[in-house]
Amino acid sequence: MPVYEFECTNGHITEELVPMGTKNTQCSQCKKKARKILSTCSFELKGGGWYADGYSSSKSKSTNK
Ligand SMILES: [Zn+2]
Repeated sequence: MPVYEFECTNGHITEELVPMGTKNTQCSQCKKKARKILSTCSFELKGGGWYADGYSSSKSKSTNK
């Protein structure tokens, strides 16, 4: 089972191991309903940083000449 992040209406972030397809869970701090956050966002950020690094270094190589 994948770990998902959930954010409740108070802004608490809860990480929970839930079955795929689960959209809501209970906040571990205030016990309110928490909504699933798409964790793919952080994945894309990391990948984008890595990609941008490689891109900028190859770009500076050509401008250095
Ligand atoms: Zn909460």
